[in-house]
Amino acid sequence: MKIHTETITVKTNRRNEMIDITSEVSGAIAKSGIETGTVIIFCPHTTAAITINENADPDVTHDILLTLEELLPQMRKGYRHAEGNSDAHVKASLVGASEILCIQNGKPRLGTWQGVYFCEFDGPRTRKIHLTITG
Ligand code: ZN
Repeated sequence: MKIHTETITVKTNRRNEMIDITSEVSGAIAKSGIETGTVIIFCPHTTAAITINENADPDVTHDILLTLEELLPQMRKGYRHAEGNSDAHVKASLVGASEILCIQNGKPRLGTWQGVYFCEFDGPRTRKIHLTITG
């Protein structure tokens, strides 16, 4: 059993944004030399998340963000959290802090139309993503 850990840094540009990190994840797997195994992609932030979704049509990520922003506006009567970013905390919990991918032949086993996304909900910021590759 071999374990490779790596932290990647992402700079976000907008308050709500989805950034395709598939090539960074693939690069870390290649660097690890692990051919068969799993990779855990973990977001160590409370107002950001990780998800897997379509990376063929950029309108999909646009529509995901539009939906989340409509469901969870930044200002809402009743929010108590003084930072003013409760919407971002809720979005982060709904989307989730991590994903697990299978690795086969040194590559992540994603579907044809799938990509791995870092989801920013309180940007712009500089963020970290932890990868643990085991195989
Ligand atoms: Zn907060």
